[in-house]
Amino acid sequence: MILKCTSIIALFFFCNMATAQSNDTYGIEGVLYSDEGWVSLSITNGKISGIDRLDKEANLSKMYIAPGLIDVQINGYMGVDFSGPDLTVEGIRKATKALWKAGVTTYFPTVITSDFNRLKKNFAILAQAQKDPEIGKSIPGFHLEGPYISPLPGFRGAHLEKYIKNPDWEEFKELQRAANNGIKLITLAPELDGAIPFIRNCVANGITVALGHHNGSAEDIERAIDAGAKMATHLGNGCANEINRHHNPLWPQLADDRITPSLIADGFHLTKEEVRSFYKVKGPDKTILVSDALDLAGLPPGEYTRGERTLLLTPNVVKLPKENVLAGAASPISACVGVIMDYTQCTLKDAIQMASTNPAKMFSLNDLGEIGQGKKADLILFKLEDNKVVIHKTFVSGQLVYSKE
Ligand SMILES: [Zn+2]
Repeated sequence: MILKCTSIIALFFFCNMATAQSNDTYGIEGVLYSDEGWVSLSITNGKISGIDRLDKEANLSKMYIAPGLIDVQINGYMGVDFSGPDLTVEGIRKATKALWKAGVTTYFPTVITSDFNRLKKNFAILAQAQKDPEIGKSIPGFHLEGPYISPLPGFRGAHLEKYIKNPDWEEFKELQRAANNGIKLITLAPELDGAIPFIRNCVANGITVALGHHNGSAEDIERAIDAGAKMATHLGNGCANEINRHHNPLWPQLADDRITPSLIADGFHLTKEEVRSFYKVKGPDKTILVSDALDLAGLPPGEYTRGERTLLLTPNVVKLPKENVLAGAASPISACVGVIMDYTQCTLKDAIQMASTNPAKMFSLNDLGEIGQGKKADLILFKLEDNKVVIHKTFVSGQLVYSKE
């Protein structure tokens, strides 16, 4: 009797579960970015539970489906500056939602060289945002760019010289504590005193090291790579305008296969020839696209005051008018997908790999960056208009978070 009762209860639960499961499952149709075939993806509980091929001809107005874009270098968006004095969780929410609209489902808020207390405060706020049930899932880590970079003009780019210093592991640990261990990527200069043991410490603690804003020699760079540095931050930028043709930081980073560079392929930070050459050397497996967008991205062009200086936002880039250097980009990473296709003639598959699959792999975000059974349903639906990505829908964990229509 007891047994029978239990089986009936078990059956009841099973049926209920099955119903709940089927209710939870829904489909998203589109042209698969990687092979141009029509597919219907089944989404269950925020994950891709099935991929069905559809017998449809792809027509002219193809609605592509691809994994959401992943941007590991973005300084802010829509007026919200991740390094600014007024950062709040609400500001990060505004930026995150605007990024969803631009097809970015995952990003590393990037905090640049500033006063130590500011860095600490902002990382604590970012760590709070990471726990937020609505936006936290889009922020699996943070990027610290500086303050351990070259103080030399040109190489330091838009970073303020007065806050630049040599690597200090104890100080960094304090930042990492404030960030609740959220700093997953650090950009530093390998030629600074103490850089090599600092890199070893980072690697031992699961932090990816990128070389950037530096004037390292071939020996400095090799030592840093031997110590575990894996990336070169925005290769070709964060560099003086005039460099020695034989001995400069570009060649050793291009020549070593252990380095994956990030590129700001926004059409302004690098020439077409630079993008083509870097891409020919590194290929689609060893290139990561980043936006390096400043908080001004998304705002109307004009002069803006940020902290201690004036920035000029043109429709395409942000400049420091006084120093006449680029301060950062004004386009989201989706623009870089179009530009790299245009410049290198690479396929959409390759471009998405560089803007989603590769960063996911680099940071062991194993359920992201691909369309596959069991992967998180972070997806974008978009059209390509003259190689420009136009986002129509964005899903995060299977939830529709943006729709153009
Ligand atoms: Zn930079």
